[in-house]
Amino acid sequence: MAATILIALGSNRRHGRHGRPEGVVTAAIAALAAAGLAVTARSRTHPTAPLGPGGRRFANAVVAVHSALPLTDVLAIIKGIERGFGRRGGQRWGDRVLDLDIIGAGAEVVRSGALQVPHPRLAGRRFVLDPLVEVAPMWRHPLQNLTARQLRARAMRPKARG
Ligand code: AMP
Repeated sequence: MAATILIALGSNRRHGRHGRPEGVVTAAIAALAAAGLAVTARSRTHPTAPLGPGGRRFANAVVAVHSALPLTDVLAIIKGIERGFGRRGGQRWGDRVLDLDIIGAGAEVVRSGALQVPHPRLAGRRFVLDPLVEVAPMWRHPLQNLTARQLRARAMRPKARG
């Protein structure tokens, strides 16, 4: 049965063809659809201050997609799309043309070396939680038992801690 999968997109570099990070995000959403992941909802594209020493502004968004594929196959698809956009590996906080992450998939929990769903660094990340709330405010984190809206409200509180 097709499940709703929430995917976060981020970019902080120009792409030769797609231009600024906002254009990269828009093109990446089209690439997800072209790869067979039916996009059912998308957030606005949010400008985000750089998180680490990379120094460049990010564009971030979240989409909901429908797919009957196992999450490991979805991961392979999004990693292939990242490579297609020319992302350089091994730079966690560095400049990146495109970063795609599986945020959650209904009540599914995966904890393996290569795939962690829900994404373990979700809590506290406003650049994911803000667009996530636009797309799936009532999605419930299966381990924390909080909705996306509640996770965001918690992240907005001063000195919020996981
Ligand atoms: P990144 O930090 O985006 O460069 O991702 C590095 C690796 O994290 C990927 O190659 C995946 O194998 C792994 N990974 C684990 N959980 C996830 C997830 N929920 N979404 C995307 N990648 C993941």
